[in-house]
Amino acid sequence: MLRVGVIGAGYVGLVTGACLSELGHQVICVDSDQVKIARLKAGEVPIYEPDLEELVAANVSRGQLSFAADLGEATAGGVDLLFVAVGTPTDDNGSGGANLAYVYAAAEAAAHAIANAPSAPDAFTVVVIKSTVPAGTSRKVTAILGRSLPAERFAVASNPEFLREGSAIKDFMEPDRIVVGSHSERARQLLEELYLPLTRKGHPLVATSTAETAELIKYAANAFLATKVTFINELARLCEAAGADIEELAVGVGLDDRIGPKFLTPGPGFGGSCFPKDLIALIKTANDFGSPVEIVETVIRANDRHKQLMVRKIRNELGGAVSGRRIGVLGLAFKANTDDMRNAPALTIVGQLISEGAEVRAYDPVAAGQAKELLPDLLLAETIEEAACGADAVVILTEWSAFRGIDWTKLAPTMRRPLLIDLRNVCEPKDVIRQGMEYVALGRPIAELPYRAAAE
Ligand code: NAD
Repeated sequence: MLRVGVIGAGYVGLVTGACLSELGHQVICVDSDQVKIARLKAGEVPIYEPDLEELVAANVSRGQLSFAADLGEATAGGVDLLFVAVGTPTDDNGSGGANLAYVYAAAEAAAHAIANAPSAPDAFTVVVIKSTVPAGTSRKVTAILGRSLPAERFAVASNPEFLREGSAIKDFMEPDRIVVGSHSERARQLLEELYLPLTRKGHPLVATSTAETAELIKYAANAFLATKVTFINELARLCEAAGADIEELAVGVGLDDRIGPKFLTPGPGFGGSCFPKDLIALIKTANDFGSPVEIVETVIRANDRHKQLMVRKIRNELGGAVSGRRIGVLGLAFKANTDDMRNAPALTIVGQLISEGAEVRAYDPVAAGQAKELLPDLLLAETIEEAACGADAVVILTEWSAFRGIDWTKLAPTMRRPLLIDLRNVCEPKDVIRQGMEYVALGRPIAELPYRAAAE
């Protein structure tokens, strides 16, 4: 059992803390947001993530997981590993680079806490950077710690996180790989010990000889995935124009082992708290090193354009203009099973529809509150039925599973026009058409499908 501290109890920090405690380590999480810590201490989990509440509660009651308002209090007894899991948002200076102020503040706090911990004078702590940070950041964090601590008291390692919101616990507990990068052999050994319960089950740990490699692996993975999504979105539009079917195309392409079937699902554009910010941060890093990543630059432009083309698609389906139209939107979060609205495509698409004069009433099982803060003119619906009632069209923007089994025979008569624009292709066209809807998918020429005639 190792003693672990986690700085930052957000999506990544809280999941990391809860999962490491579940693996048998002694974990204490701190956060500068005192309201968050108070809620956690009161047994409340401030974010929506499947199974997280139960995991936190179980480990708190077993005494494996606790929360502290102050890092000094958390590290007083000494910690073997101190994770930094604070945000690295896009810098608001317009450079596109990651704002590392929170990481550096956490590093300063860690240096102070380790230096002042009344533990054994020979105690050794590994400061582990879990936040997504540009290549070279761990080196800078090492310099910050080195100002207050002798070299034999600490080491810094990069251990980027690959979890996805919505399946965060499963992703942490069953990772495709764990990446650990450090110049320090001792740091690497401690991290190997930490993750032993996972590597024993066959989850590979990739140890890189420099932190820079580990830092870049995270950006490379996100950039590749965003490229795959953008590629299939462009192909979906091409399918639409050419009379081909993107779902069939994705199967035909994805069965190639070198490509794989995942992330070949078309949608209204990528978003979320990671892809957009990580891609522009990678572009900034690459330019800083004089080694541009032109594919990534193109992916961002293509994704922005795709979202605009989704607005155009909705506009066209509604006769060329949306002014005065009522549009019911199903799903606002950037993907299913999360309440995270950061950079969700709904913000662009719904925002644009509203600015063109549409009345948009949206239903999302968990993200509606966050969305309303970002889109004040958005009308919220408590149910799917309420979003659809009186609408000229219903648009599906998030692939929540609840949208797959909607009984459209009940909804169609309540709509001004029973038009469903499914930008996630979650519905089975034949079923929806049989249930009395006009159905428009993304990259699927519904009118051409043989069963359309049968259904009519
Ligand atoms: P978040 O905003 O949910 O959480 C960050 C937390 O850090 C907040 O609670 C904030 O109050 C706290 N914090 C900031 N400065 C602090 C300080 N000095 N001391 C203590 N607490 C402090 O962010 P997140 O989504 O968990 O992301 C954290 C990092 O992980 C980012 O770099 C992100 O890119 C990366 N990441 C996120 C995901 C994801 O799906 N959310 C996945 C992989 C990696």
